[in-house]
Amino acid sequence: MEKLYEGKAKILYSTDNPEELLTHFKDDATAFNAQKRGTILEKGKMNCQITVALFQWLESKGILTHLIQQIAEEQILVKRVQIIPIEVVVRNIAAGSLCRQTGLREGDKLPHSLVEFYFKNDELGDPLLTRDRLLILELATEEQLKELQTLALEINQHLQQFFASCQITLVDFKLEFGIDSHGKILLADEISPDTCRLWDQSEQDPEKRVMDKDRFRRDLGQVENAYQQVHKRVIDKLSSLK
Ligand code: UDP
Repeated sequence: MEKLYEGKAKILYSTDNPEELLTHFKDDATAFNAQKRGTILEKGKMNCQITVALFQWLESKGILTHLIQQIAEEQILVKRVQIIPIEVVVRNIAAGSLCRQTGLREGDKLPHSLVEFYFKNDELGDPLLTRDRLLILELATEEQLKELQTLALEINQHLQQFFASCQITLVDFKLEFGIDSHGKILLADEISPDTCRLWDQSEQDPEKRVMDKDRFRRDLGQVENAYQQVHKRVIDKLSSLK
């Protein structure tokens, strides 16, 4: 296996099959464009399993993903895709950069779900894109953009419903998509407490309710515990549905 790419939270390896890659989930955590670094014990394992569970749930709802199968506690086999260099963010409740940039208050419910596109470019600090900027940069075609928007909203519907059944509010999350050898758009990357804001519905306190990477970003403590809670609720819910 050859290491193709090492990112902040995952490593990508080639396999014997040129159509397939291996993703290894790391315990490393970063925030603020890697200015803050740390380790979250067993995060790799938990995020790998949460991603597999949610991707399988989405597949059962007709969403195509790059997942082939889990091959170790923190490793999955995925279809080789060309990653579209756009971070697709979906928001249901105001938090994070939306509050910083608009003055909305954390926790404000949005009148409708918001889909935003960010340029996946660490050097530029992943800036928010307009539709026209995205097209000028040729990051996607107009048709692909429409498809990304539709897919993102569909995935949001399914995930909101799933997390609600785990007594978790899906505040916002980030998706990445890739294009396979047939030109199809597949959901790629991961869906985990690293890439979602998740609030515990049984807690009203704005700090206690946080079950995601914001605990690490904002030094709220109990980071591992929050990830374990999400892991447990997601896995328990899925096995009860099988
Ligand atoms: N997000 C992510 N990776 C990024 C940027 C954002 O997974 O590089 C997720 C983040 O965890 C949150 C959502 O996308 O669930 C929206 O993030 P936001 O724009 O509010 O950025 P932040 O406040 O984290 O800087």
